[in-house]
Amino acid sequence: MITAHTKHFDTIVRRMIIPCEIAIPGEENSRQTLSALWDTGATSTCISQEVAETMGLKPEDFTPVIGMENKTIEAPLYSIQISMGSFIIPYIQVIGLPMSSHEHNMILGMDVMVHGDVSITNHNGKTTLSFRQPSLETIDYSKEVRDIKRYTTMHMAWQKQGNQKCPCGSGKLWDNCHGNSVYLPKKAKY
Ligand SMILES: [Zn+2]
Repeated sequence: MITAHTKHFDTIVRRMIIPCEIAIPGEENSRQTLSALWDTGATSTCISQEVAETMGLKPEDFTPVIGMENKTIEAPLYSIQISMGSFIIPYIQVIGLPMSSHEHNMILGMDVMVHGDVSITNHNGKTTLSFRQPSLETIDYSKEVRDIKRYTTMHMAWQKQGNQKCPCGSGKLWDNCHGNSVYLPKKAKY
């Protein structure tokens, strides 16, 4: 099953904090909504120790974590379910950390992001975070730039010979294919 979730921010943001529901696996009435910071620098997902205690989560194990003043602490590991819209991870082990002084009470790390594809775009002065699982394709902006340069050059040569097809081989007209690319200036509409 393909699931996805998108968060549209009103401005450009440097910290992406979104609502994330967590629950004890199999216990729907334990559900809580946390403020989750998306952090590509975090390898593991963490939740606030205070929230873990309120929910009555039981530590399954402990893991060394470098905390305040570079001191290593033994942080508890909890198993939870995570959901954001239709995007669900039914079972994941997360680290409990003190977070009461932060505006977020959860950190979503790379262990969540590797479940699928994640995009961050900043079009028209607004940040959009979108993600889905499973991963469906590779996004390669440098290939897109290379392709549009190549196809534009070919199109100009083909056009002189009366050929309006797109050089990419799709069989579509240029105007309905790569001629309509975001990389090209938009044609004025009358
Ligand atoms: Zn094309």
